Amino acid sequence: MKLFNILTTFPSMFDALNYSMIKRASEDGKIKINVVNIRDFSASKNRNTDDYPYGGGKGMIMTCQPIISALDSLNEKGHVIFMSPKGTVLNQQKVQELSKKSSITILCGRYEGIDQRIIDYYVDEEISIGDYVLTGGELPAMVLLDTLTRLEEGVLNEEAYSNESHYNGLLEYCQYTRPDIFEDYAVPEVLLSGNHRLIEEYKKINSLQETFLKRPDLLEKRGLTDEESKILIALFGDKKDDIIKFIK
Ligand code: SAM
Repeated sequence: MKLFNILTTFPSMFDALNYSMIKRASEDGKIKINVVNIRDFSASKNRNTDDYPYGGGKGMIMTCQPIISALDSLNEKGHVIFMSPKGTVLNQQKVQELSKKSSITILCGRYEGIDQRIIDYYVDEEISIGDYVLTGGELPAMVLLDTLTRLEEGVLNEEAYSNESHYNGLLEYCQYTRPDIFEDYAVPEVLLSGNHRLIEEYKKINSLQETFLKRPDLLEKRGLTDEESKILIALFGDKKDDIIKFIK
């Protein structure tokens, strides 16, 4: 069972996790989510969790004491992550790396962020969910928790996620459901053929095509085999020079 401790000043936001896959994973004992209200650990009279920044500047900074007391109260801290726009940008590779940790503590910032000493001395890693700024770390924490829960053994079967976008460095092939003709638009015939070999071939080609058209940067990172490059050149002969660059 993977343990997630979430340290937040807005614990009720995590009620939103009580649905669907995450709810089932919790009920089945695949994950445990321990939401901790940082405010409960404030030693100040008014249960404050923030203060003015040294050196001036706009906004407030979350103080050390309540966060460190909340961290110290945990039975099992595991890997401590601070959700931050300054962190490593999350991708599927990072998710797979983090999925190997048996317990993870996620710290959610608010206001202008948290006192740097918490990051320097108590946090193992800063993670961002993208190059933009949100109001708080709660939504990023939920994103991280969702994507990690999907990979927990027994939550989904491996086939359900191993074909998905990003898992193997490619985007997923296009998918369709009934009816086979909607208005004038038909599903690719091969998918109705019942021929498993041809269907697998379609999926592979379509996945390469989607990635080349929408996210060539992924192909640059992952590389192409000779066979894959031939498939793409057959489809996009005029872009042969771009395709050849991706061969590893
Ligand atoms: N002043 C900070 C800065 O410029 O780097 C931004 C603070 S932001 C308004 C408040 C909190 O939201 C952050 O401390 C962090 O926990 C969270 N946050 C905002 N954007 C995020 C992102 N892209 N990824 C992860 N967490 C984020």
